Amino acid sequence: MIKVIVTGAAGRMGQRIIALASGEKDLKVVGEVDIGDSLEAIISRGDVLIDFSSTEATIPNLKVAARVKKAVVIGTTGHTAEQKKGIEKIASEIPIVVAPNMSLGVNVMWKILEEAARALGEAYPVTVREVHHVHKKDKPSGTALEIVRVLSKALGVPAEKIPVESIREGEVVGDHTIVFRGSEEVLEITHRAFSRDTFALGALRAARWIKGKPNGFYTMADVLG
Ligand code: NAD
Repeated sequence: MIKVIVTGAAGRMGQRIIALASGEKDLKVVGEVDIGDSLEAIISRGDVLIDFSSTEATIPNLKVAARVKKAVVIGTTGHTAEQKKGIEKIASEIPIVVAPNMSLGVNVMWKILEEAARALGEAYPVTVREVHHVHKKDKPSGTALEIVRVLSKALGVPAEKIPVESIREGEVVGDHTIVFRGSEEVLEITHRAFSRDTFALGALRAARWIKGKPNGFYTMADVLG
């Protein structure tokens, strides 16, 4: 049995993680933490902390987890470069999985993008478009930033050279489209999430995987093998 604590428990993602975990035999949510609750008071109950809260909460939550050597799955997006460095530093003390997008489809997409960018090259200028619900705090999305990182590496161009259009509209869960525009043809690759359960299931998968792993910084690629 893997005992899970969720931070951001009252949020859109937190609620889905708690609901889906209740249907799993090998997982049990033993703590739900949102604003005003003390993670410190309950952290020792759990094996793994799943964090879908806010960028400001992540590092304080990690410090609490590190004090009692608990593994952490971070789904929160929008961290600054400094916060990202802080997360990597704490990963020398505990195992941490960080994934801006926990869905299986997006994590398969990284390889497809890499291959497409390498094959098409500069003759097919690439652009990224992401659409999310109006409540989303970060812009561009963490997934769009990762798409740009993957493309920039594969193409050998600076990330700033890859245009990203961010649209906030209604209750859209998360759409990402990458367009390679040649002079005679266009290749579009789209991932569309229909519900948050795709991310929540990925987070539970990561929680199962990370329990008992050596200290270190891991991504969904490690979780999915
Ligand atoms: P949300 O606003 O619905 O939920 C966030 C919750 O965190 C809220 O209930 C809020 O009160 C709580 N919170 C804020 N500060 C806190 C703190 N200090 N301690 C405890 N709880 C705190 O947002 P959401 O849609 O659930 O998304 C949460 C995060 O997850 C965002 O950063 C979002 O971009 C990210 N996200 C990641 C993935 C992924 O696959 N990695 C998927 C969807 C969303």
